[in-house]
Amino acid sequence: MLQPPHSSLQVAAVPAQRGTPRDRDQEAPWHTEAVCRRDEAGLFFAPSKEPTAARLSREEAAKRVCARCPVMVECREHALLQPEPYGVWGGLTAAERRVVLARRRRREMELKKTARTTGRIAAAG
Ligand code: SF4
Repeated sequence: MLQPPHSSLQVAAVPAQRGTPRDRDQEAPWHTEAVCRRDEAGLFFAPSKEPTAARLSREEAAKRVCARCPVMVECREHALLQPEPYGVWGGLTAAERRVVLARRRRREMELKKTARTTGRIAAAG
């Protein structure tokens, strides 16, 4: 996992068992343009025992930051490919990324199925 662009305050909010990406010295090129690098509001990762209403409000605020970020596409793809299990990345919450990944897997399975069917038809014809 690459170091996230989120500020140290957000990274510090991630429990130790999830890893502390801040400790890693790898940095993706797009990190330098990340709007959240200097964000100090703790928007991107949940503090422990965060009430639902507070989480929803925090996530919406994080998404507003992402919406004006020039590297949102790169960030989102990174979070989907890792996959990053926690936090808001590329304007998506962890739950939203799981939905996107499930849709991608379903689409890939359908494409493979279509390719197999097409191959069988071509071989028979
Ligand atoms: S898209 Fe959001 S989480 Fe990703 S780098 Fe930009 S501000 Fe940070």
